[in-house]
Amino acid sequence: MTKDALWTGKLGQKTVVYDPTIQLPGCPHLFLWTEADGMGKYLADVIRSKVKRVPDESATATLQALYEAWREATGERWLLEETRFYEEQARGAEERRKAQEARQEAKRLAQLSIEERHAERLKTLGKEFKGVESVTSERRVHRATHCYACKSSLNSAQDLQCKACGWILCDCGACGCGYESPAPT
Ligand SMILES: [Zn+2]
Ligand SMILES: [Zn+2]
Repeated sequence: MTKDALWTGKLGQKTVVYDPTIQLPGCPHLFLWTEADGMGKYLADVIRSKVKRVPDESATATLQALYEAWREATGERWLLEETRFYEEQARGAEERRKAQEARQEAKRLAQLSIEERHAERLKTLGKEFKGVESVTSERRVHRATHCYACKSSLNSAQDLQCKACGWILCDCGACGCGYESPAPT
């Protein structure tokens, strides 16, 4: 018997067909076929110890033939649909993971001081952090009403400016060092 051959087993009262060629690698489910229900999904970890292979496969030859007829007619389409299903699930999980990361990052940033946010932002931009200072009237070179980075209105109670560019810092840490003037229209 080859490694890819079908086999039949007992799962409680049911006789199931296991087909190694119609399983999905890395899938949490094992697919088992029964005459009554067609292809079914079972949690692989749970089911492996519960299926008892039948000792005499000749006794289930008819069932195997029925299964092979099913596979011939619908197997390929079924496997394609299942593949899509699990891919979609994986994508959903990936999106949830990313959203969770973004929430954690936002929470972390919210706990930093403006100066720390500013320093991180410059580091991300590959610019040198030269420190911050209180807004000085002679060096005040920029006062926008809205932050170009986070789009929030600049809070005038905020009175730190970047030592490198002289822009007043936004709460998000943005200054002129990361500003790219819009292309002339
Ligand atoms: Zn901002
Ligand atoms: Zn700056």
